[in-house]
Order: sequence, then structure tokens, then C-alpha cells
Amino acid sequence: MKNISEYFGCLVFDDRVMKANLSAKVYQSLKKTIDEGAQLDISVANAVAAAMKDWAVANGATHYTHWFQPLTGITAEKHDSFISPSPDGGVIMEFSGKELIQGEPDASSFPSGGLRATFEARGYTAWDPTSYAFIKGKTLCIPTAFCSYGGEALDKKTPLLRSMEALNKQALRILHLFGNDDVKCVRTSVGPEQEYFLIDKEMYNKRPDLRFTGRTLFGAKPSKGQEMDDHYFGVIKPRVAAYMEELNEELWKLGILAKTEHNEVAPAQHELAPIYSTTNIATDHNQLTMEIMQKVAAKHGLVCLLHEKPFAGVNGSGKHNNWSMATDAGVNLLSPGETPYENAQFLLFLCAVIKAVDDYQDLLRLSVATAGNDHRLGANEAPPAVVSIFLGDELNAVLEAIENNTPYAGTQKTQMKLGVDVLPKFNRDTTDRNRTSPFAFTGNKFEFRMLGSSNSIACANIMLNSAVAESLKIYADRLEKAENFEDALHEMIRKTIKDHKHIIFNGNGYDDTWIKEATEKRGLLNYRTTPDCMPHLLDAKNVKMLTSHGVFSEAELKSRCDIMLENYCKTVVIEANTMVDMTKTEIAPAVDAYTMELAKTIAAKKAVDDTLTCNYESGLVKKLSKLTDRIAIKTEELENALVELHNAEGIISEANMIRDVVLVKMGELRLACDEAETVTAKKYWPFPTYGDLLFSVR
Ligand code: ADP
Ligand code: MG
Repeated sequence: MKNISEYFGCLVFDDRVMKANLSAKVYQSLKKTIDEGAQLDISVANAVAAAMKDWAVANGATHYTHWFQPLTGITAEKHDSFISPSPDGGVIMEFSGKELIQGEPDASSFPSGGLRATFEARGYTAWDPTSYAFIKGKTLCIPTAFCSYGGEALDKKTPLLRSMEALNKQALRILHLFGNDDVKCVRTSVGPEQEYFLIDKEMYNKRPDLRFTGRTLFGAKPSKGQEMDDHYFGVIKPRVAAYMEELNEELWKLGILAKTEHNEVAPAQHELAPIYSTTNIATDHNQLTMEIMQKVAAKHGLVCLLHEKPFAGVNGSGKHNNWSMATDAGVNLLSPGETPYENAQFLLFLCAVIKAVDDYQDLLRLSVATAGNDHRLGANEAPPAVVSIFLGDELNAVLEAIENNTPYAGTQKTQMKLGVDVLPKFNRDTTDRNRTSPFAFTGNKFEFRMLGSSNSIACANIMLNSAVAESLKIYADRLEKAENFEDALHEMIRKTIKDHKHIIFNGNGYDDTWIKEATEKRGLLNYRTTPDCMPHLLDAKNVKMLTSHGVFSEAELKSRCDIMLENYCKTVVIEANTMVDMTKTEIAPAVDAYTMELAKTIAAKKAVDDTLTCNYESGLVKKLSKLTDRIAIKTEELENALVELHNAEGIISEANMIRDVVLVKMGELRLACDEAETVTAKKYWPFPTYGDLLFSVR
């Protein structure tokens, strides 16, 4: 086996390859585009395209694709081969700068939420030179943004790049006020911790619910679940270890910094975390990671489940979005500094985040809202649906001291005067203890923990970047006009703490009393479900903020709201239909067949001796018969609820009906079927059980 450093990034057209394969002039010019967003000259594009093609062909590629992230949540690609006919009847391999920079895939089958009528089905993809091209299989993949003929974003990358630019612009204003004039740009970084389940492929194939919806819609609780806490950080089983080994290799070849792997809380649940990188690259990499996880699983006879809640009663899967802001020189703006001045700057950026999270709780909540994630949030395995911030005792004490102009006990200094005192170094151990907070400060970064495992991290980061850009803009507007910078700064930090401290909560987020306190005393938002939160995307304050920073146009926001709600509705309707189908064609007949066998047993026993009571069998027959009756009723009620959806007036009303009726009926049907599972002989039960699924991979 080769050394990792020898093959790391071997499938990536990265800086090393660029340097080696481009002329110095072309390389410099491309670097300028990558680092500073400078316009790329067509002659440079042609040279880059030619080098990219030669490199890709030398590495076995025959095709190229503009790789993009439409609003379906997964990635899309349309392959074109490099071949071009030559006069002698053969072919040559060609790839022009124009083909590199722009593509025109037919966009009509991607969701656009009305932004693009099908008669003008053309969409455009535009190269994102800040994210390296890479080879997947035999295809050169070029990361691109995707937009409509009219220039509206139809993807997740475009608004993400815009939000990064918005934050960059405002953060630079602040840094310049602090005299950091040599900072050229500020970028946000993300390290997403990805949770997933691995189950056996043969078992998976026998479960239509898993195949069609990614989660189990039925399944009685196994005798052993996660009660023993024996899986978390436990020894990794050989089949899983082999999977992780190959997964790491594939990711490393793609230049993805896969770093940490371990078992998670639930049986069959695992986690993979990369080393953090710039947000748009981290986003591309996370999409690729999810894809490769599934591909590698298939090679090992396994299936990787990325659904937020594949199994009821055991923990679901999330994705922790570790987020920070750093300058082009690598200075982390969320890291307390060495000097008093640096500390004041740190506190200002910290306050910007606190204010952003409070002012835009709704946007953060809805950025992670999907039908799948609704099962997780607030279910004592993930943060509640109420957004709050954990700061840790030390930092909290600092903020309290500033707010009240009182001495801070943690230092020898008498008073926390900004720009004068040195802050203590925050010990990671004391900032990272709280695992129940949706948004936790962990020493030099924030960890947003509400994301679902299958979510693209783009959505959460778009909202986070934009909201922080807005706080920074408000600060910069005020500070640029201030007569005395230090006083204005101090006052602003104090005011932020005062106005927004209700979002700070350092206690146990899983505790019911917290939800009561958060909603009743503190007035924090509690949007439990997707239909509860999604329409707030279009609240005036949100539209104003997002459009003012150029992250979205109003039309784009409307379309996104529609698409997310449609997505919610479609997801649940498919689940409901799958339940109806499984019940009618497999579960009810299986229970009946077992009942029949019991009845036959009773008859056979009585034929031998008619004084035998057969209490066991007849009791079961009665019970099963009642259960099949209930299953029939509940199936019909669910079917009726689905028919009722046709009467919905608009997508919001449909989503509400799904939340209030369809999901409730699904729960009732499941309850009846799960009970039947517990009293039906295993050989009659048509599907692998939870025990089979969760403990099958050795
Ligand atoms: P855990 O949360 O499991 O204890 P860590 O907090 O050490 O693990 O790391 C989680 C993720 O946070 C990793 O992907 C890591 O690269 C990332 N991370 C570390 N520092 C930063 C930072 N400054 N900005 C963004 N992400 C970071
Ligand atoms: Mg973490």
C-alpha cells in the first residue's frame, strides 16, 4: 500500500498540478482569479482547459462534466466526452476554455419553483474556480454554479458564494476599523461532522421502506437497542473497518481531508469528520463525501443510510457544522487574541454572531428543515427546535462583566475594560462540554448542531454567513461614524449583550423545562416542523436582509420556499404510499397467514382431543384478528388523508395537512403494524426486523 502523502489528491487538479502544468503567466492569472475573484481572460481559460484536459486524459478520463448542486439537495452532472472528429476519420481529445467556463444543461427537470418556464428550459452552469476540478470514475468534474437564463440561482452554490462575499465585505470594514489594513479577504471555514448508518445490503433490499424512502416506516423495538451505550467509540467491527479504510482512501484521492472516524451512539451508526476548509470547498467536499460513502458501501455489500431518522427509537443522524471566520493570513477571528486590542476585535466578532443568531433564529431553523430532520430535532438525541447559543461559563462571565461594568473574577484585573484587559485563554475542555446546545462556542469556532445528516451544508451556511454579515454591517455603519472608536465599540458590545443575552443558554437543552423557559419567559422561537418554519423565509425582515446583501433576490426566495415545501410534501406522500403498499401487500397477508396457521393448529389439536382448550392459540387468533381489523381501518384512514390533500389550497396548506393529518395517521398505522410484528411468528414476518438490521454487520 502506498503512502497516503503519495496519493493524496491524485485525482484533483489542485495547486500542485496547476503549477506543474501551466505556464507561469497562466498560473499567476488563474491564481488571481481564485484568490481575488479577478475576471478570467479567455486565452487563460483556453490554456487552463487544455492543461486540465491533458491531465484528466492522462489520468484515465474520457468525459468532462459541469458538476453542480441543484435544489434537489444532491449533485448533478451531465457528461460530455472530450472527443472531436479529426479529418482522417479518427478523433482528437478537445476541451476549450469556453467549455470550461460555461455549460448549458437542459434545466427543465430540475426544480426551479417557477423561476424558469419549461419553454425557456436552458440553464447555465458557470465554473467556480475556487473549488478544484477532480476526476470521478472516468469523468473530469468541474465544480460549477447553476442559474437560469435570467440569471436567477437554481442551485445552492451560487447563494453560498454570494453569502461568503457579503460576509467578506462587511468583515473587511470592521478589520480596517481596527487598523488591519493588510487583510485582503475574510473567508468562513467549515468542518462538517457527518453521521451515518451502515447496514447489510441484503437486508436493505428486503425493505421497500428503506429502498423508497431511506428510512424504516415500520419496525418494532428490538430487545436490545442503544440502552447499554456500548457502541459509542466502541471497537470498530472488521467489515466496518474495511469499509472505512476504503472510504478514506477514496476521499484522500479526491483531496478530501477525512480525519476522524468512530462509532456513534446507536448500533450500526458511525461518524466521519474531515479537517475543516473554506466553506464552499467544504460544501463540495461534503456532497462528494456523501456520494462516495454510498458508493463504497455498495462495494462492501453494505448500504450507507444518510437519512436523519432511519430507525424509530434509536438515535438519528445529524451533521455538526463547525464554523469560523479567518483572514487570508489565517487569523481566526473567533479566536481570542494575545493583545487587548485583538481581544476587543474578537469580542466584536463574537457579538456579531450572537446578534445574528438571535435576530435570525428563524432563518437558521429553516435552513435545516426537512421532513427527515423534523423527526430528530427536539427528540432528545439532537438539539431542540429552539435555537440558542452555548458560550460556556468562562466566556459567559466575561460578557456579564462587560454588560454590568463589574470586575471579571477570572482575571486578576479589576474591570473588563475593552481594549485594555487581556482575556483569558479559553480552555477547550470548558467550552465544549455542552452537547445539547444547537449552537455552541467551542473555543475558536461555533458548532451549529441542528443540521440533518443528509442536508447539504450550503443552506445553513448561506443563512449563517448572511446573518453575521448583517450584524457586521450594522456595527461598521455605526463605528465608521463614531467620534471615539473605543467608547463606541465598548457601548456597542454592551448593548449587544444586553439586547441578545436571552439567546444565550448554558444549561441542558434536552430538558423540557428549557423549552418552557425559552418560549414563555425568553420569547425564543420554537418552530417544531418544516411547515411551521419554512414560510418565514418570506417574512419582510428576512427578505430585506437577504436581498440587501445580494444573497438572494425576492423571486429566488419565493421559489426556494415553494421548493422546500414541495419537497417536504413529496417526501411524506411517498412514505405514506409506501406504508399503504407494504401494509396491504405484505403485512396484512402475513398476519393473516399466521392466523390461519394458528386456526389450523387449533383444529388439529381438537381433532386429537376435543377437550383441549388451545387457550394460547385462540387468544392469539383473537388478538391478531383484532389487529388486522385495526390495520385495515388505519390504512383506509391514511388513504383518505392522502386523497384529502387534493383539496389543499396551495403548498402551505398542503404541508400543514401533511403535518396535522397524514403524519398522524402514518403513526397510528405504524403502531398497529409494529404490535402485530411482536406477536407474529418470525418466519411469517415479511421484513427483516430492527434486530436484524441494526446488528447484522459484524
Ligand atoms: P468534536 O466536535 O467531535 O470534538 P472537533 O471539535 O475537534 O471534534 O472537530 C470537529 C470539526 O471541527 C473538525 O472537522 C475540525 O476540522 C473542525 N474545526 C476545527 N477548527 C475549526 C475552525 N477554526 N473552523 C471550522 N472548523 C473547525
Ligand atoms: Mg464537534
